[in-house]
Amino acid sequence: MSVSFVIDPLDFVQNAGIHHGKIPVDALVRLHDFLFDKEGELIYQISGQFDKHEKPGLRLEIKGKIHLSCQRCLGKLPHTIDLQTFLVLAKTEAELDQADEDEAVDAILATPDMDVVSLIEDEIILSLPISSCHTEGECSIQELEFIKNNLTNKKSAHPFAALLALKKTN
Ligand SMILES: [Zn+2]
Repeated sequence: MSVSFVIDPLDFVQNAGIHHGKIPVDALVRLHDFLFDKEGELIYQISGQFDKHEKPGLRLEIKGKIHLSCQRCLGKLPHTIDLQTFLVLAKTEAELDQADEDEAVDAILATPDMDVVSLIEDEIILSLPISSCHTEGECSIQELEFIKNNLTNKKSAHPFAALLALKKTN
């Protein structure tokens, strides 16, 4: 399944364009590598605006919930996406290089057939935490069960081991 929404970004800004919609997580194929499952959907709004320096740009808001994989237990890790960003539109590669020198500015090249869905996917991937884990003690039940079973097995395999050890030292 794939969705796309293509704009000419400079036209979009000129016309003070605004658009909102929903994207199923399932459709964001490049994001799938980071996910536990493909459930959920994201809502987004994109609007064409000029920034305070009169530069054209795209304001992007993305909200929704996705499920990452915990890097410790590989269990489901709910993650909330709540992104707001302003991307300055560079008209040429040179302008893009110039804009990139300013760390406070996020710039993208204004190609005449920009796929907004792909842009949204990029922004989500960039926003993901480098390391994603459950908070301490919240790892998946399977892992806890596994540890518990392991402990029980050890106990039942050597019921008097601790006692013997005690006797020896005395
Ligand atoms: Zn975990």
